Amino acid sequence: MKFENLNVIEPILRALKDEGYECPSPIQEQAIPSVLDGRDLLGCAQTGTGKTAAFAVPIIQTIYGQKNKESRRHIQSLILTPTRELAVQIEESFRSYGRYTNLKYLAIYGGVSQNPQTQSLRRGVDVLIATPGRLMDLINQRQVNLQNVKMFALDEADRMLDMGFIHDVKKIISYIPQERQTLFFSATMPKEISELVNTILVNPVKVAVTPVSSTVDIIDQYVYFVDKNNKKKLLVDLLKNKDISSALVFTRTKHDADKVVKDLLTYKVKAMAIHGDKSQSARQQALNYFKNGEIRVLVATDIAARGIDINELSHVINYNLPNMPETYVHRIGRTGRAGLGGTAVSFCEYEEKPFLRDIQKLIKKSIKVVEEHPYPMLITTVDPKAEKPQRKQRIERFETEFVKSKKNTSKSSSYRGTANKPSSKKAYI
Ligand code: AMP
Repeated sequence: MKFENLNVIEPILRALKDEGYECPSPIQEQAIPSVLDGRDLLGCAQTGTGKTAAFAVPIIQTIYGQKNKESRRHIQSLILTPTRELAVQIEESFRSYGRYTNLKYLAIYGGVSQNPQTQSLRRGVDVLIATPGRLMDLINQRQVNLQNVKMFALDEADRMLDMGFIHDVKKIISYIPQERQTLFFSATMPKEISELVNTILVNPVKVAVTPVSSTVDIIDQYVYFVDKNNKKKLLVDLLKNKDISSALVFTRTKHDADKVVKDLLTYKVKAMAIHGDKSQSARQQALNYFKNGEIRVLVATDIAARGIDINELSHVINYNLPNMPETYVHRIGRTGRAGLGGTAVSFCEYEEKPFLRDIQKLIKKSIKVVEEHPYPMLITTVDPKAEKPQRKQRIERFETEFVKSKKNTSKSSSYRGTANKPSSKKAYI
């Protein structure tokens, strides 16, 4: 199957060729003809499946086809997406796929000054990509008029719900003409989302690609059982492996993300963090440095990393295991994109073992355990507060003993030396 067979017009075909896309991905193959036919769409797909082009290509083509009839630029298509990074990325995709169409695309999102955005809006925009908060602000200031929107796309609806945007989303939808085409994307379908689907979609074409649990098949996955206080050392140790050309490290909290970056910098590993407390420009800068290889490690929280598109990311490292198994799939989906293989490494401390069980249940396979590594798990009880001093002592005792035993082994055959041998390469994925 080729894009030509999907009735995509020449200026877009040329742009897709420039991008190096040879064949449509399954979601594109299914979605593009239906959207070009004017049908509403319900897409059950996550990032990494090519869903951006699945909605961007037919939107560009439809608006381009109608463009000559319009004298002035009005917002004819609105794309709502939950995060700033996604908004920027979707805008880039529209600009790429639509580079020969002379349409105007604009992303608006919070965390940056409003002025450049309102100035661009005044100059005229055909496709507006927005996060809900900033869009609501600009609607309230009468800087945005949605009266001419004919095509509306809601991206990552389930994430909108998780992030508490659903009320804003509903409000924004009420400002768009009812006579429109709606494209709706969500990786999962919680009750509130399926209710929204029923109210805003009319007889939609349903497109589902690669259910969440099977997208991970091309990714090599490993788990290291390790105590919390040794994760830092283990990470530094793993990063000695030059095969890890780029690693996206996930932490549970913003504080952890900053801490991991600090630790890595002390070991001269170039790293930066992205999370909700960082300004938009700091996040974008970190992402750019990471994409062009100036830093090797990007440390992120789940919300900040959601949907980030990094070509050829070699490794995802779960510094903490997520408590929601679907989050694990989203995280590791950042590697292994567009059919490329990738490696996902997880650090599992004793208290995270139940999370690991849930993940394995969801992905229907067991993750390979790396037995041979310098910081094996020693703590095998949950940590009730009363036990804390005892636990601390135990850790200290084990640490001392471990250092001692390492010294002893290094006299005969150094652990690191052994680990570098091909036979134990697996310990250093
Ligand atoms: P998305 O799911 O839209 O975030 O896309 C994931 C990645 O796949 C992006 O890097 C796209 O540039 C890439 N991609 C999308 N469609 C295609 C295609 N038909 N052929 C090759 N790569 C693609």
